[in-house]
Amino acid sequence: MSPFVSRFAPSPTGLLHRGHAFSALTAYAAALEVGGRFLLRIEDIDAQRCRPQFEAAIYSDLAWLGLNWEQPVRRQSDHLEKYTAVLESLRARGLIYRCFRTRAEVADAIGAAPHGMPAAYIGAPLAAKEEAKALDEGRSFAWRLSLAAARREVRFENLDFVEEGAGPEGQCGLLKADPTAAGDVVLGRKDLGVAYHLAVVVDDAFQGVSHVIRGQDLFEAVPVQRLLQALLGLPAPTYRHHRLLLGPDGKKYSKRDQAQTLEDIRNQGLTAADLRAELGF
Ligand code: GLU
Repeated sequence: MSPFVSRFAPSPTGLLHRGHAFSALTAYAAALEVGGRFLLRIEDIDAQRCRPQFEAAIYSDLAWLGLNWEQPVRRQSDHLEKYTAVLESLRARGLIYRCFRTRAEVADAIGAAPHGMPAAYIGAPLAAKEEAKALDEGRSFAWRLSLAAARREVRFENLDFVEEGAGPEGQCGLLKADPTAAGDVVLGRKDLGVAYHLAVVVDDAFQGVSHVIRGQDLFEAVPVQRLLQALLGLPAPTYRHHRLLLGPDGKKYSKRDQAQTLEDIRNQGLTAADLRAELGF
């Protein structure tokens, strides 16, 4: 059996559209082509935005499209303790810190960076006394990855990844993964559990994903994800970012605008074979 494992990892925050169909078909066809495995993963850690009806629609839309996937499907909301434990292990190693700044304060801090460069946020933990006070006051906070602390454990110059698809500027081959551009990213929030980057690297490793096949909009996420893999001793998958499908207006499909959903498409009488052909499968 080939060790090739790909996955489609949608968040059930809306109905799937043509862009999702293209992404799912790309990951699925890649596995099929080499006799590998294809997984579906439901990325529903954000309880405020995810809805059960969107998860149900993912299953019916993908089945309609002709895909099949292994059971059981991994639903991230079933594994929150696992991500929390990983976050805790990073905390115990001094790799994350509590950031009490609001979104606006973070934006301000970035704006005030020298040279007017659009800088990423780099912060620092509060002094113990101040932090205790903030916690006492019940102020909310985010757990941020400390790049300064991470740098003491990982040589950033050695972080790289293999891109078999292409980044937005055609980047491919063996690429450097420099996490500094992302700044101290948020890995968790006081009451909301862990953030996307952490759950995704934990799951990709746990599920043995060999090829992360996804849209170019996530290309910029690779350096932080590679850093987390290095810090956690997890293997690096091969990446294959694909182009983003553009709508008739030349813009990428998005859940936010009125992109045609697969449900609409189906109701209009288009068959799955029609759609697959239109998308080049
Ligand atoms: N859940 C993410 C999304 O729906 C995709 C994560 C990934 O493919 O790494 O955009």
